[in-house]
Formats: sequence, structure tokens, C-alpha cells
Amino acid sequence: MTVYLTSFKRYYETPGKEFHSYDYSAYSVAVYQPSWYAQLTKLDLFDIRDPSGQWVRPRDFINDDWLGGSPPPRDYALLRRYHDALLGMYEKRWANQPEDRQLGFLERVADRDEVWCCWCPYDKAAQRQLEDYGSFVCHTWPIETFLKQLGVDVVRDLDRERMVRL
Ligand SMILES: [Zn+2]
Repeated sequence: MTVYLTSFKRYYETPGKEFHSYDYSAYSVAVYQPSWYAQLTKLDLFDIRDPSGQWVRPRDFINDDWLGGSPPPRDYALLRRYHDALLGMYEKRWANQPEDRQLGFLERVADRDEVWCCWCPYDKAAQRQLEDYGSFVCHTWPIETFLKQLGVDVVRDLDRERMVRL
């Protein structure tokens, strides 16, 4: 029914609030999980590593030509390219899934509410972005776009609402 996007921290540490009010099925959309929490099933479809194993990160879409000091201003066109790069990767992976796996996935999310977790904004990269820009960019952003394309409802937690908006 609805996929709730949140962090491991929020999911595990604020029971009774937001997305922990009842027994959701929770998954990880991160490459690695915090070792100090119970491990969730990872959704490989949303791994941020490209086919060559490179991590696709916002920092790779920062304008290197910027000469006015550090950090460069947010370049929304470049961030949009980050979004589109990941979205394109997810779409390709999805298209390569056998039909029964696609159907199984769609039936699962049609049937129940789920929580999907990543580290943001408690990881170092997001903290640095918050310091430099007052916002952070999370790969759950293209995940949200992808899910909505499939007709799945998505709700972001309050942290993800603070993320950069385009
Ligand atoms: Zn994230």
C-alpha cells in the first residue's frame, strides 16, 4: 500500500513514533547496514553501485569547475543528473527482472505497508552536506520516483522532507 522511507536510526530508536506505530515489514536500501541494529533484508534492486561496482553518489555530480571557494553552490541541474542516473539504473534492473519476480514485488507492496531504511542523514556524507548546504541528497529520492512510476504510494519521514527539493 505505502512504502515509508526513513533511516535505520529512526526506525529502531523511535518506536511508537512515525513509522513504528505497528509492525511494519522493514527492509534496507543501503549497501551496508549499521552493525549495531538487527539486520534487515536488503533490497538489491536499489543498490547504488553501478554495474562496474562504483558507488553513484551526489558528490560525483558536483560542479568541479567551481572556482569561487569551497564548497561550490548546489547545482540543481547536476543533482537532477544524479537522480536520473540512479533512476535509470533502477529502471534497467527492474526491466531485467523475470516477470514473476516483478509481479511478486508488486503484489507484496500492494498488499501491505513497508518501511525502507537507509543511513541518511546520520551518516558522514549527509552530515557534511547538511553543514555545507543546509540540505542533503539521499538515494531514496530516485527510489521514490521509481515507486511512484509503478503506482506505489510513498511517504518520506521528516528527515527526508528536509532533503533538497527540486
Ligand atoms: Zn539515504
